[in-house]
Amino acid sequence: MPASSLDQLVSLCKRRGFIFPGSEIYGGLANTWDYGPLGVELKNRVKKEWWKTFVWKRPDMFGMDAAILMNPRVWEASGHVGNFADPLVDCKECKERFRGDKLLEEKLGVEAVSVLKLAQIGPMLKAEKIPCPACGKSNWTEAKQFNMMFKTHQGVIEGEGNDIYLRPETAQGIFVNFKNIVNTMRPRLPFGIAQIGKAFRNEITPGNFTFRTREFEQMEIEYFVEPGREAKLFDEWKESVWNWFTGLGIGKKSLRLSEHDKEELSHYSSRTVDIEYRFPWGFGELFGLANRGDFDLQQHQKFSGEDLTYTDPDDATKKFLPHVIEPSFGCDRSVLTFLLEAYTEEPLENGETRTVMKFDPRLAPVDVAILPLSKKEHLIAKAQELYKKVIQETDLVVDFDVTGSIGKRYRRQDEIGTPKCITVDFGTLGEDDKQGTKDTVTIRDRDSLQQERMTVGELIKTLRG
Ligand code: ATP
Repeated sequence: MPASSLDQLVSLCKRRGFIFPGSEIYGGLANTWDYGPLGVELKNRVKKEWWKTFVWKRPDMFGMDAAILMNPRVWEASGHVGNFADPLVDCKECKERFRGDKLLEEKLGVEAVSVLKLAQIGPMLKAEKIPCPACGKSNWTEAKQFNMMFKTHQGVIEGEGNDIYLRPETAQGIFVNFKNIVNTMRPRLPFGIAQIGKAFRNEITPGNFTFRTREFEQMEIEYFVEPGREAKLFDEWKESVWNWFTGLGIGKKSLRLSEHDKEELSHYSSRTVDIEYRFPWGFGELFGLANRGDFDLQQHQKFSGEDLTYTDPDDATKKFLPHVIEPSFGCDRSVLTFLLEAYTEEPLENGETRTVMKFDPRLAPVDVAILPLSKKEHLIAKAQELYKKVIQETDLVVDFDVTGSIGKRYRRQDEIGTPKCITVDFGTLGEDDKQGTKDTVTIRDRDSLQQERMTVGELIKTLRG
């Protein structure tokens, strides 16, 4: 059973070192979050699985890593300077600011709101008597467009001409390198370029833990295809992304596809399908797949003056701008989804409840914990010997824990989702036959709670898989 409330998860994340509130000792900075020792392992593993599936295991994919700061003309070409805005409304009573469309969406539904023009939002909030989520009164300003790009300035002189933006998406870093990659890698269509990196959006209403923040990481692919070949490849991408999430443990019942209506489509897209996850507050976007046509290459060709056409390697007279299918993942949102889905509370026979993070073993931040049964010095020394052997002979992340009773330590490992715990006891030392024969250890499985006794040699083989 996934977590039913966000509070349960937020508290576990803080208690166990997954995610901490940002700048906490200074009273925090609203809606910023820092990944702790376990959070960073989990996040790195999500990124690694993604890269493995979509870059290493596909002959048609290339990776790259572009700069966050880009020539400001990029954002004029992409449409972000003109279009990347949300409708902002102010509460005249308490001065809090909200997204007008989101306030209406909650009452009227997405479909009703997606067709609204900016000028209709203020009157509609009044007509529907939508209360302010902060103070409960209903006294709104007109809606105005609020551009979500973060501005900063480059160099030592502040002022006009030096203003640049923090990128609001990673995609444009790929488009501006399209020509470089075609020239250096000589790929045949269809092929894709993948990138993982930070993006920044000055969201009006961030919240729900790491679901919506102003600084976040994306995992994006731009997949270039011959015009007219999009339909089949679009469906293939939809399927492989769905399989990636479910293959790593997201239950099919927790996911759904959502096809955008014509009115909901962004200015660059002719078809968009989102994968949504059942978050504790309802379904929300986890991933978006869009058919961007040749919008981006067309725009960058126009604004940069560079020829971005692709030449068919079999027929040099065939030159065209490829069309683009864009699978776009939120990395932090994916991590949040894996955390929520893994969260499980299980009743035990003794009447207690154990909390266990049932991560897919490929994502678990710690692979194996080595636990000496007691604090006796020579037992700890034996367990440390095993610890060194495991880290030298495998590529696993290994935890070594001596504090607290063995029951408490198992519970701690369950709470961080460690798939295997190894107990070193007096049997291992050859001092107690009842616990086991010399040089054998107990290996405990996180999910089944089954315990198995095996020699150290067998253990290393098992851990290597
Ligand atoms: P939303 O409708 O939730 O604002 P979006 O449609 O603007 O999302 P895209 O521009 O398609 O999002 O970005 C691709 C992915 O990046 C999203 O599916 C989501 O997982 C992630 N993402 C977008 N905005 C944020 C944010 N503010 N915080 C965390 N992740 C985000």
